[in-house]
Amino acid sequence: MFDIKMNEQAARHMIVEVGRRLYERGYIAAADGNISVRLEGRRQLLATPTGVCKGFLKPEMLVIVDEEGRKLQGDLNPSSELAMHVTIYRLRPDVNAVVHAHPPVGTGFAASGIPLTKPLVSEVVLTLGCIPLAEYGTPTTEELAQAITPYVPHYDALLLANHGALTYGADLEDAYFKMETLEHFARIALVAHLLGQERPLPPEAVSKLFQIRQRAGRTSPTPSLCQVPTPSGRATEGPANANDRITLTRRQLVDLIAESIEATLAALIDENRSST
Ligand SMILES: [Zn+2]
Repeated sequence: MFDIKMNEQAARHMIVEVGRRLYERGYIAAADGNISVRLEGRRQLLATPTGVCKGFLKPEMLVIVDEEGRKLQGDLNPSSELAMHVTIYRLRPDVNAVVHAHPPVGTGFAASGIPLTKPLVSEVVLTLGCIPLAEYGTPTTEELAQAITPYVPHYDALLLANHGALTYGADLEDAYFKMETLEHFARIALVAHLLGQERPLPPEAVSKLFQIRQRAGRTSPTPSLCQVPTPSGRATEGPANANDRITLTRRQLVDLIAESIEATLAALIDENRSST
């Protein structure tokens, strides 16, 4: 039923359908959530309006905005959270649809400050890499758009701290199914945690899955966040950005320096051996 190239009428019906599914599955309540798509060849977006339940939309209720999110057409006003969508379309030319919802289990993780980055399920590593947690930003302000910006180029599904979840993809079906995957995985992660014996995939298995992702041309998540081993065989933590600030205890700093001296010495000894 979904087609990547969406003319306006088809897109209106698809958004209505996805709104209904989100509401039926309990991913949104009352007037929560929002959905948008790029309109084919028009540099415009079709988006859900603010203040209405997305479970009972009608095609004519949707709003057309420009690529900056300014309203062009429609009786109702676009969502106040549209800035997030605009940011995603700006940073990801491959994305044609965005879904934002508050699925209860995923949002529970987001409200607990826990990202869904452990490689617990191979299928999720293959499809999403992992699901990081973007910092809190006040809804209806630019803060939210700023909070997601570092993650958008590398991931297709995000948790929004103390707020909800965000997924996007090549078409609306893709974006919607990523939301289903996110919530399904959140449930699995919760059960694994409750059972008290979480067993994340070992680094070698995660590396293989990432190679398959790479061959399939999927986004390349920041390996560190998804707990993918670095070339030296160690997984690191936090986004690998040269401008990131990190905090270390004195002991950690001393250990790091000692480790690096040891590694340098070992390399020198090796070099000496091979040249003699
Ligand atoms: Zn929201």
